[in-house]
Amino acid sequence: MTDEDALGVRLRPEIVAVPAYKQGRPAPADGFKLSSNENPYPPLPSVVEAVAATLTELNRYPNAGGADLRQRLAERHGVDVEQVHLGSGSVALLAQFISAAAGVGDEVVYSWRSFEAYPGLVTVAGATSVQVPNRPDGGHDLPAMAAAITDRTHVVIVCTPNNPTGPVVTADEFEAFMARVPRDLLVLLDEAYYEFVTDDSSVDGIPLLSRYPNLVVLRTFSKAYGLAALRIGYAVGPAAVLDAARSAAIPLSVTDASRVAALASIDAEDELMERVARIAMRRDKLRDALVEQGWNVPVSQANFLWLPTGEQTGAANDAFFDAGLTVRAFPPEGIRISVGEQESVEKLLEVAADIVQNLP
Ligand code: PMP
Repeated sequence: MTDEDALGVRLRPEIVAVPAYKQGRPAPADGFKLSSNENPYPPLPSVVEAVAATLTELNRYPNAGGADLRQRLAERHGVDVEQVHLGSGSVALLAQFISAAAGVGDEVVYSWRSFEAYPGLVTVAGATSVQVPNRPDGGHDLPAMAAAITDRTHVVIVCTPNNPTGPVVTADEFEAFMARVPRDLLVLLDEAYYEFVTDDSSVDGIPLLSRYPNLVVLRTFSKAYGLAALRIGYAVGPAAVLDAARSAAIPLSVTDASRVAALASIDAEDELMERVARIAMRRDKLRDALVEQGWNVPVSQANFLWLPTGEQTGAANDAFFDAGLTVRAFPPEGIRISVGEQESVEKLLEVAADIVQNLP
């Protein structure tokens, strides 16, 4: 059989046209991987120990219901256990909620540019993306998003802080937005970077759940908790909506290793949040230094910064790579750089100082 023969296989043309999710280039030896918004700190010994203890049961299917972790999260957030749903990363949860609510002929509204997985997940569900341009400062234009809602809209995704640009949606902006959203329209509030937020005016979705029956908040252990490899995230929202997401889920995809790692991470929350605070401080200092160099960097509340390199994006990406820094390029708009190891910062600033000289 050849590739030619496989071309005759009937596939959905709209899926074939979706570019598969791509990871950045691997970091060069002695370099720094700043392309995936990962946590630079290694896992805690207690987390490694908890994961290791699951290895003797690899022949068994996992306890994918995860009642213990759901209970723990419910207590932490002051909600019922039925209001917590686990997924193999928040990207899996996004897929479940989008396909639970939007199908063929339905529209999903979100800001753009935002998390690069959104368009593909919407297409896989059979629905259509309606992308509302970000404001010039990289934030969501929520009034324009509200205006883009029609009878065909079945889901709205709000990403705060926004990946890849960094700004948050404020509590006031979000409440004004929700006042314009019909109560039967599912709003997914993607808070993947919630723990890095230091701006008090930012929206905090979970306390709002009691007021909005159509709101679901998505969080992850991948970023602040440093468990990206284990793929675990959670949704908090109305039980009936979470049940529909469970119906759309691939069964048994949350592993025991990820569940116990999440529990051990909650146990070690203070230590992990100290790390998060250090990264947030490093972020603010790094942004100040870049602004000083002449960069127009949006105010970021996440663990990454956005450099608007425009048509120079390819060249800037290569310059960072040649200096040992893997970053994420979004040509022809800009480059997203994770706030990583302290040792990466000096190198980053050196390269950025050169690049900014060549920008128009
Ligand atoms: N939402 C946003 C905004 C993200 O940036 C990411 C990861 N890059 C995710 C969701 C998914 O994260 P995970 O699946 O690792 O929980």
